[in-house]
Amino acid sequence: MAEKLIFAYSQKGRQAHTLPEAPPVNFGLPERKILRLPEVSESDVVRHYTRLSRQNYGVDNGFYPLGSCTMKYNPKINEQIAAFEEFTGLNPSAPERAAAGLLKILYETEQMLCRIFGYARFTLQPAAGAHGEFTGLLIIRAYHLEHDGGKRRKILIPDAAHGTNPASCTLAGLQAVTIKSRPDGGVDIDELRRHLDDTVAGLMLTNPNTLGLFEKNILAIAELVHNAGGLLYYDGANANATMGLARPADMGFDVCHLNLHKTFATPHGGGGPGSGPVGVTEKLMPYLPRPTIDFNGQEYFLNHDRPKSIGKVHSFYGNIGVILKAYAYLRLQGSAGLKRASELAVLNANYVKARLQKAYAIPYPQICQHEFVISVKEWKKQYGVSAADIAKRLMDYGYHPPTIYFPLNVPECLMIEPTETESKETLDAFCEAMLKIAAEVQSNPELVKSAPHSTIVGRLDEARAVKEPDLNYFAGAEN
Ligand SMILES: *Cc1c(COP(=O)(O)O)cnc(C)c1O
Repeated sequence: MAEKLIFAYSQKGRQAHTLPEAPPVNFGLPERKILRLPEVSESDVVRHYTRLSRQNYGVDNGFYPLGSCTMKYNPKINEQIAAFEEFTGLNPSAPERAAAGLLKILYETEQMLCRIFGYARFTLQPAAGAHGEFTGLLIIRAYHLEHDGGKRRKILIPDAAHGTNPASCTLAGLQAVTIKSRPDGGVDIDELRRHLDDTVAGLMLTNPNTLGLFEKNILAIAELVHNAGGLLYYDGANANATMGLARPADMGFDVCHLNLHKTFATPHGGGGPGSGPVGVTEKLMPYLPRPTIDFNGQEYFLNHDRPKSIGKVHSFYGNIGVILKAYAYLRLQGSAGLKRASELAVLNANYVKARLQKAYAIPYPQICQHEFVISVKEWKKQYGVSAADIAKRLMDYGYHPPTIYFPLNVPECLMIEPTETESKETLDAFCEAMLKIAAEVQSNPELVKSAPHSTIVGRLDEARAVKEPDLNYFAGAEN
Protein backbone atom coordinates (compact mmCIF):
# COMPACT_ATOMS: atom_id res chain seq x y z
CA MET A 1 0.00 0.00 0.00
CA ALA A 2 1.52 3.28 1.04
CA GLU A 3 4.96 1.95 1.60
CA LYS A 4 8.11 3.00 -0.19
CA LEU A 5 6.45 6.33 -0.53
CA ILE A 6 9.35 8.71 -0.26
CA PHE A 7 12.64 8.27 -1.99
CA ALA A 8 15.44 10.28 -0.53
CA TYR A 9 18.43 11.00 -2.71
CA SER A 10 21.69 11.71 -0.97
CA GLN A 11 25.38 11.15 -1.65
CA LYS A 12 24.69 7.48 -0.95
CA GLY A 13 22.19 7.30 -3.77
CA ARG A 14 18.53 6.46 -3.82
CA GLN A 15 17.04 5.35 -0.52
CA ALA A 16 13.52 4.24 0.06
CA HIS A 17 11.87 5.29 3.31
CA THR A 18 9.14 3.00 4.44
CA LEU A 19 6.34 4.84 6.15
CA PRO A 20 3.58 3.42 8.28
CA GLU A 21 0.39 2.87 6.39
CA ALA A 22 -1.76 5.96 6.55
CA PRO A 23 -5.35 5.91 7.67
CA PRO A 24 -7.69 6.10 4.66
CA VAL A 25 -9.07 9.51 3.78
CA ASN A 26 -12.49 9.26 2.23
CA PHE A 27 -13.60 12.33 0.32
CA GLY A 28 -17.04 10.82 -0.13
CA LEU A 29 -15.65 8.63 -2.90
CA PRO A 30 -16.86 5.08 -3.39
CA GLU A 31 -14.90 2.54 -1.34
CA ARG A 32 -12.81 1.50 -4.35
CA LYS A 33 -11.44 5.03 -4.71
CA ILE A 34 -10.45 5.68 -1.10
CA LEU A 35 -7.16 7.57 -1.12
CA ARG A 36 -4.48 6.41 1.23
CA LEU A 37 -2.62 9.62 1.81
CA PRO A 38 0.60 9.55 3.79
CA GLU A 39 0.94 11.17 7.19
CA VAL A 40 4.06 13.27 6.87
CA SER A 41 5.07 16.53 8.42
CA GLU A 42 5.19 19.79 6.55
CA SER A 43 9.00 19.87 6.72
CA ASP A 44 9.20 16.39 5.26
CA VAL A 45 6.99 17.38 2.36
CA VAL A 46 8.96 20.59 1.74
CA ARG A 47 12.24 18.70 1.84
CA HIS A 48 10.94 15.98 -0.43
CA TYR A 49 9.93 18.42 -3.16
CA THR A 50 12.98 20.61 -2.72
CA ARG A 51 15.13 17.53 -3.15
CA LEU A 52 13.23 16.61 -6.30
CA SER A 53 13.53 20.12 -7.70
CA ARG A 54 17.29 20.03 -7.20
CA GLN A 55 17.51 16.90 -9.29
CA ASN A 56 16.00 18.67 -12.23
CA TYR A 57 18.35 20.18 -14.76
CA GLY A 58 17.28 23.43 -16.30
CA VAL A 59 18.75 26.47 -17.95
CA ASP A 60 18.99 28.06 -14.48
CA ASN A 61 21.36 25.29 -13.35
CA GLY A 62 23.75 25.24 -16.24
CA PHE A 63 24.58 25.26 -19.92
CA TYR A 64 21.94 23.75 -22.18
CA PRO A 65 23.27 23.28 -25.72
CA LEU A 66 20.18 21.45 -27.01
CA GLY A 67 20.30 22.22 -30.74
CA SER A 68 17.20 23.62 -32.40
CA CYS A 69 14.83 23.36 -29.45
CA THR A 70 17.14 24.96 -26.95
CA MET A 71 16.48 27.25 -24.05
CA LYS A 72 17.33 30.62 -25.46
CA TYR A 73 17.10 33.80 -23.43
CA ASN A 74 14.45 33.56 -20.70
CA PRO A 75 14.73 36.69 -18.55
CA LYS A 76 12.91 36.59 -15.22
CA ILE A 77 11.31 39.98 -15.67
CA ASN A 78 9.20 38.55 -18.48
CA GLU A 79 7.74 35.99 -16.12
CA GLN A 80 6.78 38.78 -13.74
CA ILE A 81 5.13 40.75 -16.50
CA ALA A 82 3.17 37.75 -17.76
CA ALA A 83 2.00 37.15 -14.18
CA PHE A 84 0.54 40.65 -13.71
CA GLU A 85 -2.89 40.27 -12.24
CA GLU A 86 -4.26 42.63 -14.88
CA PHE A 87 -3.58 39.84 -17.39
CA THR A 88 -4.07 36.69 -15.35
CA GLY A 89 -7.25 38.04 -13.78
CA LEU A 90 -8.86 38.94 -17.09
CA ASN A 91 -11.80 36.75 -17.97
CA PRO A 92 -11.24 35.45 -21.53
CA SER A 93 -14.93 36.09 -22.22
CA ALA A 94 -14.74 39.68 -21.03
CA PRO A 95 -16.18 42.15 -23.55
CA GLU A 96 -13.62 43.65 -25.93
CA ARG A 97 -13.82 47.05 -24.24
CA ALA A 98 -12.77 45.48 -20.92
CA ALA A 99 -9.81 43.79 -22.63
CA ALA A 100 -8.72 46.90 -24.55
CA GLY A 101 -5.25 46.99 -22.96
CA LEU A 102 -4.58 43.38 -23.82
CA LEU A 103 -5.86 43.84 -27.37
CA LYS A 104 -3.50 46.79 -27.79
CA ILE A 105 -0.54 44.69 -26.61
CA LEU A 106 -1.48 41.86 -28.95
CA TYR A 107 -1.87 44.30 -31.83
CA GLU A 108 1.52 45.86 -31.09
CA THR A 109 3.17 42.43 -30.80
CA GLU A 110 1.79 41.58 -34.23
CA GLN A 111 3.06 44.87 -35.66
CA MET A 112 6.56 44.25 -34.27
CA LEU A 113 6.67 40.72 -35.71
CA CYS A 114 5.51 42.09 -39.08
CA ARG A 115 8.37 44.58 -39.12
CA ILE A 116 11.02 42.07 -38.03
CA PHE A 117 10.02 39.33 -40.47
CA GLY A 118 8.59 41.40 -43.32
CA TYR A 119 4.98 40.21 -43.34
CA ALA A 120 1.72 42.07 -43.87
CA ARG A 121 0.00 40.39 -40.94
CA PHE A 122 0.47 37.72 -38.27
CA THR A 123 -2.01 35.62 -36.38
CA LEU A 124 -1.05 34.99 -32.76
CA GLN A 125 -3.51 32.13 -32.28
CA PRO A 126 -1.45 28.95 -32.90
CA ALA A 127 -0.27 27.26 -29.69
CA ALA A 128 2.99 25.70 -30.93
CA GLY A 129 5.38 25.51 -33.84
CA ALA A 130 3.64 22.47 -35.27
CA HIS A 131 0.29 24.19 -34.79
CA GLY A 132 1.65 27.19 -36.71
CA GLU A 133 2.74 24.88 -39.52
CA PHE A 134 -0.72 23.36 -39.62
CA THR A 135 -2.28 26.84 -39.71
CA GLY A 136 0.09 28.08 -42.42
CA LEU A 137 -0.50 24.99 -44.55
CA LEU A 138 -4.28 25.39 -44.23
CA ILE A 139 -3.79 28.94 -45.50
CA ILE A 140 -1.77 27.65 -48.47
CA ARG A 141 -4.43 25.03 -49.12
CA ALA A 142 -7.22 27.60 -48.97
CA TYR A 143 -5.33 29.84 -51.42
CA HIS A 144 -4.90 27.03 -53.95
CA LEU A 145 -8.46 25.88 -53.49
CA GLU A 146 -9.62 29.31 -54.57
CA HIS A 147 -7.13 29.75 -57.42
CA ASP A 148 -6.53 26.22 -58.75
CA GLY A 149 -9.55 24.28 -57.58
CA GLY A 150 -7.54 22.20 -55.12
CA LYS A 151 -5.44 20.06 -57.46
CA ARG A 152 -2.27 21.42 -55.84
CA ARG A 153 -1.62 19.09 -52.93
CA LYS A 154 2.12 18.39 -52.89
CA ILE A 155 4.37 20.08 -50.35
CA LEU A 156 8.08 19.59 -50.98
CA ILE A 157 10.22 19.22 -47.85
CA PRO A 158 14.01 18.72 -47.67
CA ASP A 159 15.19 15.60 -45.82
CA ALA A 160 16.86 17.68 -43.09
CA ALA A 161 13.50 19.18 -42.02
CA HIS A 162 11.99 18.93 -38.56
CA GLY A 163 9.65 15.95 -38.25
CA THR A 164 6.69 18.20 -37.58
CA ASN A 165 6.84 19.51 -41.19
CA PRO A 166 5.65 16.35 -42.96
CA ALA A 167 3.30 15.56 -40.06
CA SER A 168 1.62 18.97 -40.35
CA CYS A 169 1.22 18.46 -44.12
CA THR A 170 -0.64 15.24 -43.59
CA LEU A 171 -2.85 16.80 -40.92
CA ALA A 172 -3.66 19.69 -43.26
CA GLY A 173 -4.79 17.25 -45.98
CA LEU A 174 -1.70 17.84 -48.12
CA GLN A 175 0.91 15.40 -49.34
CA ALA A 176 4.47 15.65 -48.02
CA VAL A 177 7.17 14.83 -50.60
CA THR A 178 10.76 14.55 -49.33
CA ILE A 179 13.53 16.01 -51.45
CA LYS A 180 17.14 15.01 -50.86
CA SER A 181 19.68 17.64 -49.84
CA ARG A 182 22.94 18.21 -51.67
CA PRO A 183 26.14 16.88 -50.07
CA ASP A 184 26.93 20.41 -48.84
CA GLY A 185 23.61 20.52 -46.99
CA GLY A 186 21.68 22.84 -49.34
CA VAL A 187 18.56 22.25 -51.45
CA ASP A 188 19.33 20.25 -54.59
CA ILE A 189 17.91 22.53 -57.27
CA ASP A 190 17.82 19.87 -60.00
CA GLU A 191 15.93 17.55 -57.67
CA LEU A 192 13.57 20.42 -56.80
CA ARG A 193 12.94 21.16 -60.51
CA ARG A 194 11.91 17.57 -61.14
CA HIS A 195 9.06 17.94 -58.64
CA LEU A 196 7.77 21.31 -59.80
CA ASP A 197 4.62 20.48 -61.72
CA ASP A 198 1.05 21.75 -61.53
CA THR A 199 0.30 19.61 -58.47
CA VAL A 200 2.80 21.46 -56.30
CA ALA A 201 1.24 23.49 -53.51
CA GLY A 202 4.53 24.70 -52.10
CA LEU A 203 7.96 24.22 -50.60
CA MET A 204 8.52 24.13 -46.86
CA LEU A 205 11.97 25.29 -45.85
CA THR A 206 13.90 25.98 -42.68
CA ASN A 207 16.52 28.65 -43.31
CA PRO A 208 19.03 28.43 -41.76
CA ASN A 209 18.22 24.73 -41.92
CA THR A 210 18.56 22.19 -39.14
CA LEU A 211 22.22 21.67 -40.07
CA GLY A 212 22.73 25.31 -39.13
CA LEU A 213 23.34 26.31 -42.76
CA PHE A 214 21.91 29.28 -44.60
CA GLU A 215 20.43 28.47 -48.01
CA LYS A 216 22.35 30.81 -50.30
CA ASN A 217 20.25 29.97 -53.37
CA ILE A 218 17.03 30.96 -51.67
CA LEU A 219 16.12 33.72 -54.16
CA ALA A 220 16.55 31.39 -57.14
CA ILE A 221 14.64 28.65 -55.33
CA ALA A 222 11.78 31.05 -54.51
CA GLU A 223 11.57 32.14 -58.13
CA LEU A 224 11.42 28.55 -59.37
CA VAL A 225 8.66 27.61 -56.93
CA HIS A 226 6.63 30.75 -57.61
CA ASN A 227 6.95 30.32 -61.38
CA ALA A 228 5.59 26.80 -60.98
CA GLY A 229 2.57 28.23 -59.14
CA GLY A 230 3.65 27.10 -55.66
CA LEU A 231 4.04 29.04 -52.42
CA LEU A 232 6.95 29.08 -50.00
CA TYR A 233 6.60 28.23 -46.34
CA TYR A 234 9.25 29.31 -43.83
CA ASP A 235 9.80 27.23 -40.70
CA GLY A 236 11.02 30.00 -38.41
CA ALA A 237 10.99 28.00 -35.17
CA ASN A 238 14.53 29.15 -34.46
CA ALA A 239 14.84 32.73 -35.59
CA ASN A 240 17.79 33.69 -33.43
CA ALA A 241 20.20 33.63 -36.36
CA THR A 242 18.08 35.81 -38.63
CA MET A 243 16.03 38.25 -36.57
CA GLY A 244 17.26 41.77 -37.15
CA LEU A 245 19.54 40.57 -39.96
CA ALA A 246 17.40 39.03 -42.69
CA ARG A 247 13.66 38.83 -43.33
CA PRO A 248 12.03 35.65 -44.64
CA ALA A 249 9.51 37.71 -46.61
CA ASP A 250 12.43 39.32 -48.50
CA MET A 251 13.77 35.83 -49.25
CA GLY A 252 10.49 35.03 -51.01
CA PHE A 253 8.61 33.14 -48.31
CA ASP A 254 4.84 33.71 -48.47
CA VAL A 255 4.04 32.17 -45.08
CA CYS A 256 6.14 31.85 -41.94
CA HIS A 257 5.71 30.56 -38.44
CA LEU A 258 7.77 31.50 -35.40
CA ASN A 259 8.20 29.76 -32.07
CA LEU A 260 7.82 32.40 -29.39
CA HIS A 261 8.68 29.57 -27.00
CA LYS A 262 12.14 29.22 -28.48
CA THR A 263 13.34 32.50 -29.84
CA PHE A 264 11.21 34.96 -27.92
CA ALA A 265 11.79 34.35 -24.24
CA THR A 266 9.66 31.40 -23.22
CA PRO A 267 11.43 28.11 -22.48
CA HIS A 268 10.73 25.30 -24.88
CA GLY A 269 10.32 21.87 -23.44
CA GLY A 270 7.99 19.66 -21.54
CA GLY A 271 5.45 20.00 -24.32
CA GLY A 272 4.32 23.55 -23.77
CA PRO A 273 2.74 25.94 -23.34
CA GLY A 274 3.90 27.57 -26.53
CA SER A 275 2.94 30.04 -29.18
CA GLY A 276 3.54 29.72 -32.91
CA PRO A 277 2.41 32.93 -34.66
CA VAL A 278 1.99 32.73 -38.43
CA GLY A 279 2.86 35.60 -40.74
CA VAL A 280 1.59 36.00 -44.29
CA THR A 281 2.16 38.30 -47.24
CA GLU A 282 -0.60 40.58 -48.46
CA LYS A 283 -2.17 38.10 -50.89
CA LEU A 284 -2.70 35.49 -48.17
CA MET A 285 -4.19 37.89 -45.61
CA PRO A 286 -7.83 36.99 -46.34
CA TYR A 287 -7.25 33.39 -45.23
CA LEU A 288 -5.79 34.17 -41.79
CA PRO A 289 -7.58 32.64 -38.79
CA ARG A 290 -10.59 34.50 -37.49
CA PRO A 291 -10.86 36.85 -35.65
CA THR A 292 -7.98 39.18 -36.38
CA ILE A 293 -7.20 41.97 -33.94
CA ASP A 294 -7.80 45.24 -35.76
CA PHE A 295 -7.49 48.92 -34.94
CA ASN A 296 -9.80 51.54 -36.42
CA GLY A 297 -7.78 54.53 -35.28
CA GLN A 298 -9.67 54.71 -31.99
CA GLU A 299 -10.32 51.23 -30.72
CA TYR A 300 -8.79 47.79 -30.87
CA PHE A 301 -11.36 45.16 -31.72
CA LEU A 302 -11.80 41.54 -32.77
CA ASN A 303 -12.67 41.40 -36.44
CA HIS A 304 -14.83 38.37 -37.21
CA ASP A 305 -15.87 39.66 -40.62
CA ARG A 306 -13.45 37.58 -42.64
CA PRO A 307 -15.37 35.42 -45.12
CA LYS A 308 -12.32 33.63 -46.58
CA SER A 309 -10.73 32.84 -43.22
CA ILE A 310 -9.67 29.25 -42.49
CA GLY A 311 -11.54 29.72 -39.18
CA LYS A 312 -10.42 29.74 -35.59
CA VAL A 313 -7.38 27.64 -34.58
CA HIS A 314 -7.35 28.46 -30.86
CA SER A 315 -9.90 29.51 -28.29
CA PHE A 316 -9.96 33.18 -27.27
CA TYR A 317 -6.70 35.02 -28.00
CA GLY A 318 -4.07 32.26 -28.05
CA ASN A 319 -1.54 31.49 -25.31
CA ILE A 320 -1.50 34.95 -23.77
CA GLY A 321 1.21 34.28 -21.17
CA VAL A 322 3.70 33.32 -23.86
CA ILE A 323 2.74 36.23 -26.11
CA LEU A 324 3.17 38.67 -23.21
CA LYS A 325 6.68 37.40 -22.57
CA ALA A 326 7.52 37.86 -26.25
CA TYR A 327 6.10 41.38 -26.14
CA ALA A 328 8.23 42.25 -23.11
CA TYR A 329 11.29 40.74 -24.76
CA LEU A 330 10.74 42.65 -28.02
CA ARG A 331 10.26 45.93 -26.16
CA LEU A 332 13.31 45.24 -24.02
CA GLN A 333 15.58 44.36 -26.94
CA GLY A 334 14.47 46.83 -29.57
CA SER A 335 15.69 46.29 -33.12
CA ALA A 336 19.34 46.84 -32.18
CA GLY A 337 19.10 44.25 -29.40
CA LEU A 338 17.52 41.65 -31.67
CA LYS A 339 20.24 42.13 -34.26
CA ARG A 340 22.89 41.80 -31.56
CA ALA A 341 21.26 38.61 -30.22
CA SER A 342 21.40 37.06 -33.71
CA GLU A 343 25.01 38.08 -34.19
CA LEU A 344 25.99 36.59 -30.85
CA ALA A 345 24.09 33.35 -31.49
CA VAL A 346 26.01 32.93 -34.75
CA LEU A 347 29.34 33.95 -33.22
CA ASN A 348 28.97 31.58 -30.26
CA ALA A 349 28.06 28.62 -32.48
CA ASN A 350 31.03 29.26 -34.75
CA TYR A 351 33.34 29.62 -31.75
CA VAL A 352 32.33 26.28 -30.26
CA LYS A 353 32.46 24.64 -33.69
CA ALA A 354 35.98 25.95 -34.32
CA ARG A 355 37.20 24.65 -30.95
CA LEU A 356 35.67 21.20 -31.45
CA GLN A 357 36.67 20.83 -35.08
CA LYS A 358 40.11 19.55 -34.06
CA ALA A 359 38.70 16.56 -32.23
CA TYR A 360 35.30 15.88 -33.78
CA ALA A 361 34.13 15.16 -37.32
CA ILE A 362 32.04 18.10 -38.49
CA PRO A 363 30.34 17.07 -41.72
CA TYR A 364 29.49 20.63 -42.81
CA PRO A 365 32.65 22.56 -41.99
CA GLN A 366 31.59 25.88 -43.54
CA ILE A 367 30.53 28.87 -41.43
CA CYS A 368 27.38 27.93 -39.53
CA GLN A 369 24.49 30.00 -38.25
CA HIS A 370 23.05 29.48 -34.75
CA GLU A 371 23.88 25.77 -34.53
CA PHE A 372 26.01 23.03 -36.08
CA VAL A 373 26.19 19.26 -36.23
CA ILE A 374 28.83 16.68 -35.34
CA SER A 375 28.81 13.12 -36.68
CA VAL A 376 30.51 10.36 -34.68
CA LYS A 377 29.76 7.60 -37.19
CA GLU A 378 33.49 6.79 -37.54
CA TRP A 379 33.86 6.37 -33.77
CA LYS A 380 30.84 4.12 -33.80
CA LYS A 381 32.62 1.85 -36.30
CA GLN A 382 36.01 2.05 -34.65
CA TYR A 383 35.21 2.09 -30.92
CA GLY A 384 31.51 1.26 -30.76
CA VAL A 385 30.82 4.67 -29.22
CA SER A 386 27.55 6.30 -30.32
CA ALA A 387 26.17 9.82 -30.26
CA ALA A 388 23.97 8.78 -27.32
CA ASP A 389 27.06 7.60 -25.38
CA ILE A 390 28.71 10.99 -25.77
CA ALA A 391 25.50 12.74 -24.73
CA LYS A 392 25.33 10.56 -21.60
CA ARG A 393 28.97 11.19 -20.76
CA LEU A 394 28.39 14.95 -20.95
CA MET A 395 26.00 14.56 -18.02
CA ASP A 396 28.92 13.35 -15.92
CA TYR A 397 30.61 16.65 -16.68
CA GLY A 398 27.51 18.51 -15.52
CA TYR A 399 26.00 19.48 -18.87
CA HIS A 400 22.63 18.97 -20.43
CA PRO A 401 23.26 16.87 -23.54
CA PRO A 402 22.83 18.37 -26.99
CA THR A 403 20.13 17.17 -29.37
CA ILE A 404 21.06 13.77 -30.79
CA TYR A 405 20.04 11.72 -33.85
CA PHE A 406 18.59 14.78 -35.55
CA PRO A 407 18.59 15.83 -38.34
CA LEU A 408 17.96 12.39 -39.75
CA ASN A 409 20.28 12.79 -42.73
CA VAL A 410 23.37 12.91 -40.49
CA PRO A 411 24.34 9.51 -39.02
CA GLU A 412 25.27 9.47 -35.28
CA CYS A 413 24.47 13.14 -35.08
CA LEU A 414 24.99 15.57 -32.21
CA MET A 415 23.44 18.98 -32.79
CA ILE A 416 24.86 21.81 -30.72
CA GLU A 417 23.37 25.24 -30.18
CA PRO A 418 25.16 27.38 -27.59
CA THR A 419 22.69 30.30 -27.89
CA GLU A 420 23.32 34.02 -27.72
CA THR A 421 23.42 34.38 -23.94
CA GLU A 422 26.41 32.29 -22.88
CA SER A 423 29.73 33.77 -21.82
CA LYS A 424 33.06 32.80 -23.33
CA GLU A 425 34.00 31.14 -20.01
CA THR A 426 30.92 28.89 -20.18
CA LEU A 427 31.57 28.00 -23.80
CA ASP A 428 35.23 27.24 -23.05
CA ALA A 429 34.36 25.00 -20.11
CA PHE A 430 31.90 23.09 -22.30
CA CYS A 431 34.48 22.74 -25.08
CA GLU A 432 37.02 21.41 -22.56
CA ALA A 433 34.53 18.75 -21.45
CA MET A 434 33.82 17.80 -25.06
CA LEU A 435 37.54 17.55 -25.83
CA LYS A 436 38.11 15.38 -22.74
CA ILE A 437 35.33 13.07 -23.88
CA ALA A 438 36.87 12.85 -27.35
CA ALA A 439 40.13 11.72 -25.72
CA GLU A 440 38.26 9.22 -23.53
CA VAL A 441 36.54 7.70 -26.58
CA GLN A 442 39.96 6.76 -27.89
CA SER A 443 41.66 5.79 -24.62
CA ASN A 444 38.79 4.26 -22.65
CA PRO A 445 35.69 3.78 -24.77
CA GLU A 446 34.02 1.60 -22.10
CA LEU A 447 33.92 4.59 -19.75
CA VAL A 448 31.92 6.56 -22.30
CA LYS A 449 29.71 3.64 -23.28
CA SER A 450 28.67 3.02 -19.68
CA ALA A 451 28.01 6.68 -18.83
CA PRO A 452 26.45 8.41 -17.01
CA HIS A 453 28.24 7.47 -13.80
CA SER A 454 27.33 10.42 -11.61
CA THR A 455 23.58 10.75 -12.01
CA ILE A 456 20.91 9.35 -9.70
CA VAL A 457 19.58 7.06 -12.36
CA GLY A 458 21.67 5.59 -15.15
CA ARG A 459 20.36 4.83 -18.62
CA LEU A 460 16.64 4.74 -18.87
CA ASP A 461 14.65 2.68 -21.28
CA GLU A 462 13.39 5.82 -22.97
CA ALA A 463 11.11 4.12 -25.46
CA ARG A 464 9.41 2.18 -22.68
CA ALA A 465 9.16 5.27 -20.48
CA VAL A 466 7.19 6.98 -23.26
CA LYS A 467 5.05 3.98 -24.17
CA GLU A 468 4.33 2.82 -20.61
CA PRO A 469 4.65 5.87 -18.36
CA ASP A 470 4.45 4.91 -14.69
CA LEU A 471 2.64 7.87 -13.27
CA ASN A 472 1.53 6.11 -10.14
CA TYR A 473 2.19 8.29 -7.13
CA PHE A 474 1.90 5.47 -4.67
CA ALA A 475 4.32 2.66 -5.20
CA GLY A 476 2.22 -0.45 -5.26
CA ALA A 477 -1.16 1.21 -4.70
CA GLU A 478 -4.10 0.06 -6.73
CA ASN A 479 -5.70 2.70 -8.94
C1 LIG B 1 10.80 23.09 -32.54
C2 LIG B 1 10.68 23.08 -33.98
C3 LIG B 1 9.43 22.88 -34.60
C4 LIG B 1 8.16 22.53 -33.86
O1 LIG B 1 7.81 23.38 -32.82
P1 LIG B 1 6.87 22.86 -31.62
O2 LIG B 1 6.50 24.07 -30.87
O3 LIG B 1 7.70 21.90 -30.83
O4 LIG B 1 5.67 22.20 -32.24
C5 LIG B 1 9.38 22.96 -35.98
N1 LIG B 1 10.49 23.19 -36.71
C6 LIG B 1 11.70 23.36 -36.15
C7 LIG B 1 12.88 23.62 -37.02
C8 LIG B 1 11.84 23.30 -34.77
O5 LIG B 1 13.06 23.46 -34.22
